[in-house]
Amino acid sequence: MYGKIKEHLQKELKEIREAGLYKEERIIVTPQDAKIKVESGQEVLNFCANNYLGLSNHPELIKAAKEGMDSRGFGMSSVRFICGTQDLHKALEKKIADFFGTEDTILYAACFDANGGVFEPLLTGEDAIISDSLNHASIIDGVRLCKAARYRYNNADMEDLEAKLREAQAQRFRVIVTDGVFSMDGNAAPMDKIVELARKYDAMVMVDECHSAGVVGETGRGVTELYNIRGDVDIITGTLGKAFGGAIGGFTTGRREIIELLRQRSRPYLFSNSLPPSVVNAGIRMFDMMSETHDLQDKLHRNTEYFMDKMKNAGFDLKPTQSAIVAVMLYDAPLSQEFAARLLDEGIYVIGFYYPVVPKGQARIRVQVSAAHETGHLDQCVEAFIKVGKELKVLK
Ligand SMILES: *Cc1c(COP(=O)(O)O)cnc(C)c1O
Repeated sequence: MYGKIKEHLQKELKEIREAGLYKEERIIVTPQDAKIKVESGQEVLNFCANNYLGLSNHPELIKAAKEGMDSRGFGMSSVRFICGTQDLHKALEKKIADFFGTEDTILYAACFDANGGVFEPLLTGEDAIISDSLNHASIIDGVRLCKAARYRYNNADMEDLEAKLREAQAQRFRVIVTDGVFSMDGNAAPMDKIVELARKYDAMVMVDECHSAGVVGETGRGVTELYNIRGDVDIITGTLGKAFGGAIGGFTTGRREIIELLRQRSRPYLFSNSLPPSVVNAGIRMFDMMSETHDLQDKLHRNTEYFMDKMKNAGFDLKPTQSAIVAVMLYDAPLSQEFAARLLDEGIYVIGFYYPVVPKGQARIRVQVSAAHETGHLDQCVEAFIKVGKELKVLK
């Protein structure tokens, strides 16, 4: 039975390889950190993790995870509404709401699930979703699972958003949905203008804070802090898998009735397992740390500025950033791959992106700065960029 489809799959895999789109996985043999070791034994400086605050290997979180396991066990073996809710889960949901200044929070196994399960319970065929063209795959999938009318506006283009909002006036309810920070350019959504248009055209606002929470705003509260619009956003989704420790877990936080209805109807919540006590307890400790100090945000912001300045002075073409993502533009796809490979030889781990991940002719190297980086690490990275940049004639 498998014979025919096996051949078909082999052919598809071959096509992926021949198109140069086959994703290889590099194997790391140490914890996630500023400096990591890969399987070959090579030690490299890591500039491609979402470990923005350097918490992925933080001793406090490891300790809290162990304490969670010691006091509440290894696994939950249940969804939340049957017997998968511990005091820890409720405590973490409250911490997240306090952090964002929202009314309530619902946890998911991942933000992919939070986004997958947010639209269908709230909206019907009578309603409209107005979505940024560069939104994350999980938002696109969530929208697909819902019968609401779909409108797509060009990335961060407020004229286009306004046009789509006008078209959507026939529908009953409207929600504008956007990523807080776009992961390929590092730009933030213009939330102040989005909120203004939402008011004018009677729409709700939803923002996915995966790359912005913990990172942007003076204290890391995300784009609602950056634009001083706390209380104006109805739905925030986010992940515990990036700045907030990098383990696993997602959440939706916002208006009380929205969260309450999601607990009743959101399918990834109702039909998928509860987060393990170790992860939840570490999450609680992490949000406590966030409320005690914003030293990590200060360091991250300083690091990003320092890196941007040095790279600009060296003559590199950088996209303006509002986050910890720095896009070094090379435009040419093969050049971006060669550049990244040569940087790895120099001990710098970054990824080159090209079409279809970014638009044609917009190939780049994405550098992700972290609070785990020391000034010496940033200097080493810039020096390697300059060396390879000269060798490959990107720099004069
Ligand atoms: C990473 C990411 C997600 C998925 O988060 P997980 O918790 O890893 O599932 C969703 N949305 C955006 C914008 C992301 O960057």
